[in-house]
Amino acid sequence: MEHVDIALVGGGPVGATLACALEGSGLSVAVLEAKEKLEAPDPRALALSEGCRLILDRIGVWAALAPRTAAIETIHVSQRGGLGRVQLSAQECGVAALGHVAEYGDLYAALGARMLDSGATVLTGARVTEVGATSGYGLVRYTRGDAERLITASLVVLSEGGKALPPALRRDKEYGQSAVVCTVRTQRPHNRRAYERFTADGPIALLPLHDDYALVWTTPSAQVETRLALSEAEFLAQLQAAFGDRQGRFLAAGPRAAFPLKLSLAQDSGSPRVLRIGNAAHVLHPVAGQGFNLGVRDAWKLAEALLDLPRERIGATPMQAFQRQRRMDIAGGSLMTDLLVEGFSNANPLLHHARGAALAALDLLPPLKGLFARKMMFGSQSW
Ligand SMILES: Cc1cc2nc3c(=O)[nH]c(=O)nc-3n(C[C@H](O)[C@H](O)[C@H](O)COP(=O)(O)OP(=O)(O)OC[C@H]3O[C@@H](n4cnc5c(N)ncnc54)[C@H](O)[C@@H]3O)c2cc1C
Repeated sequence: MEHVDIALVGGGPVGATLACALEGSGLSVAVLEAKEKLEAPDPRALALSEGCRLILDRIGVWAALAPRTAAIETIHVSQRGGLGRVQLSAQECGVAALGHVAEYGDLYAALGARMLDSGATVLTGARVTEVGATSGYGLVRYTRGDAERLITASLVVLSEGGKALPPALRRDKEYGQSAVVCTVRTQRPHNRRAYERFTADGPIALLPLHDDYALVWTTPSAQVETRLALSEAEFLAQLQAAFGDRQGRFLAAGPRAAFPLKLSLAQDSGSPRVLRIGNAAHVLHPVAGQGFNLGVRDAWKLAEALLDLPRERIGATPMQAFQRQRRMDIAGGSLMTDLLVEGFSNANPLLHHARGAALAALDLLPPLKGLFARKMMFGSQSW
């Protein structure tokens, strides 16, 4: 049985960010990743906030990823069938871009390649089956090939996306919605403009990606299979009816996939030797593209907190300041996405007018708009 300072369960985007942020710390880091190869053929596209981009730059990932991303220079927020809209622009906010869009697979591969270079021991094909803790160390049981193995660590960090946790340790809120994702081509070029359009069924996001848009279409779960099975022409016609013609006609759609959506928050593990980051700690609705950005901040702040601790204290005492700071940021992100989903995904006429008024007011109040944009770009630290 081997012992390390930090055992990371899951070498996905958030786990890899932490491994890279700990490079040069002198701490021994082992990453246990279930996949055999650090590749993820996943059709999602993610909007990366400016704060996230800065972190990816500091850990040496951005230069490799940047050519595969598209900048967002304006974001147009509106509701279907109603007045009132907000337009956020990078220029108004004093930044070169409000965010960047990357395919999940490209992000995964770029972070994975950097992690292999970070000095961490990366065990691919290592599926963690159990995590525990004593007062002296955290314990991870995993299978690799035909063998079952154990590793102990001063601190175990769960970054496995939340799928390895028993449901009782999470607070889940089901939205009864799924995200249908694919690329779509529009008649007009995107000109680095993203859209968030609220409809009674949920938000529709269009994110600029290469020459096309990445679509995230919130769909009632009962209708997902039908929407996935539509012919391309029927799919585009339904999208046109739901989104409108602000980008001209929808001309083509790539292969479609669906992801069930929920809000899920993990409770504290009860041991200072086991911490959770990224989706292992919080799963958010993709409205406003917050999930990964929040996870990257978890990883970055945890690395900072660990670098401030003497090695022998790692895992021995609760990291209260780190946990307090993360609780605030996570609460802010989950509250905002939940309010957007609940407040904007319905046809209530009173709410419809109130939403229109709120969007119009936000657009007319530059300081409030700036505050909102900073929150989206940098999380709770921007307040
Ligand atoms: C449709 C959709 C759109 C989204 N859009 C955005 C967006 O625009 N912006 C944004 O910020 N976020 C967005 N998100 C959220 C984002 O995808 C997640 O927050 C992010 O992927 C979380 O990364 P992670 O590393 O925590 O988890 P994951 O991406 O789930 O990675 C977990 C890793 O752990 C590994 N693993 C799992 N189980 C085990 C095990 N037992 N043992 C070892 N390894 C294991 C997996 O193989 C994987 O490599 C979106 C999500 C969806 C569904």
